[in-house]
Amino acid sequence: MGEVEGQVRSEQLDAEREARRRAALAQIRQYPDPVLRMQANEVEEGDESLPALAERMSRLMQEARGVGLAAPQIGVLRRVLVYQTADEKPVVALVNPRVLETAEERETSEEGCLSLGSATVVVPVERPVSLTVEATSPDGEPLRIEAEGLEARVIQHELDHLDGVLTVDRTTPEGRREALAQLRPQPILGPLA
Ligand code: ZN
Repeated sequence: MGEVEGQVRSEQLDAEREARRRAALAQIRQYPDPVLRMQANEVEEGDESLPALAERMSRLMQEARGVGLAAPQIGVLRRVLVYQTADEKPVVALVNPRVLETAEERETSEEGCLSLGSATVVVPVERPVSLTVEATSPDGEPLRIEAEGLEARVIQHELDHLDGVLTVDRTTPEGRREALAQLRPQPILGPLA
């Protein structure tokens, strides 16, 4: 596995994997898509479409080489997120996640985002180092997660997506200025431009 920066893994990909990554990214909403700024809705209990939604999100996240994905990033305004902090770890899917507690200690780390030009826009973001979250699984099982390190960071990044918040809102004024300059609409050069 390559270096992990927030939501994005940076590594050398072979051509086929790179093609799959681009195809997945083309299905992920990109800044400044207004849906990325919208509040996602609570999901009703017992919704039978959730396992399929979580499955689709997991596949897209893995193909896009991300470590997390929130439903609004595929245009679905529901409070669902998935993450996988390492290849050998299972994908975790959270429905209606709710933060119970966050650490007072905070740390700053570089974060990328699959909706912000993937690996190209990386900004420093300060967040609490750990947190406890309650949620349900896509099958309706109650979950309680105590996360720290990268897991805590990814969960907070995805929770932000459920509230229409992006890393550019959380970074330093300088980080924001640089990111927005990189995100300015570019001439169309291909399917990802
Ligand atoms: Zn993101």
